[in-house]
Amino acid sequence: MKIKRKHTQYEAPALYLGFDIGGSALKFGWGSSQLGLQSYHRINLKGNRITHLKTAANEAIRFIKTQIDLSRVVSIGIGTPGTINRTTHILEGINPNLPEWTNLDPVCLIPPALDIPAFTDNDANLMALAEASALSGKTHVIGITIGSGIGCGFISEGRIFHGAHGYAMELGHTTVKKGGALCNCGRKGCLEAYASVNGLRNIILTYNTALVIENMVDILALSKIDKYVKFLVNRSIDLLSSTIANLVIVLDADAVILGGGVIELSEYPGDRLITGIESAVPQQNRKNVWVRKAALGNKAGTWGALLLAEQSFSALGNGTCI
Ligand SMILES: [Zn+2]
Repeated sequence: MKIKRKHTQYEAPALYLGFDIGGSALKFGWGSSQLGLQSYHRINLKGNRITHLKTAANEAIRFIKTQIDLSRVVSIGIGTPGTINRTTHILEGINPNLPEWTNLDPVCLIPPALDIPAFTDNDANLMALAEASALSGKTHVIGITIGSGIGCGFISEGRIFHGAHGYAMELGHTTVKKGGALCNCGRKGCLEAYASVNGLRNIILTYNTALVIENMVDILALSKIDKYVKFLVNRSIDLLSSTIANLVIVLDADAVILGGGVIELSEYPGDRLITGIESAVPQQNRKNVWVRKAALGNKAGTWGALLLAEQSFSALGNGTCI
């Protein structure tokens, strides 16, 4: 990334923009760690092609220009599904909900003419960053998102843990059954193939091709009348519980925050998942780890992106980008 912009002294408080890219909507807002999330908005995507994302981003920027003075904006953060290579800044792997969103730098969404430095990260990492910022006294926080896929991020003393290349915390693609169900990533037996909405739907449709399943609400309704679907849902909770508990043990985390669209459903047995995680960790972990549902809801991604913008710009040092 080449950044020419210099951080100047602003008369009005500095602002940061956060963009949260999803499969169905672009969410955005502005604020700062001092001011909080001052404004939050959502634009529904008209499709899942790159052109739809760029159209939504341009619409968002036009709107932002009508609301704030862009000279106050120091930097931009962008959260996106997928794995971002920390060296090349390029999205790698497969994005089922945004099939063209691979081998690109997400910064391409921001018109260069804005001349504002932009930083990107995985959306689950940013959810974890946002939720961790809302906790006091917790220094090692795992964030999990359960939706069409399984996302995971880890915040260690306020910073996102990326691993050597940016591939860290892909909990959804850890193997829970050797040679098991086919995953979106092309491998077999991943947690995501058993515990995500897409994974559960694929397994159920293999068993009964006549069923019509749009989302998790449909799956949970089916589980009340179909014993096999009930077994599959219960198995998904058990697999999530043991896998997340293993992560708590490995990382010695002091908080696990569960988020994503599925967790927000009142019909989903989230309390059973929490109990399952707590009962699967050793005594010494159990007394020291919080397992909670996410507090920030669908604003977490935007708030996390905004915090990323602020942290990343600050990390460049002396307010000057290189
Ligand atoms: Zn996988």
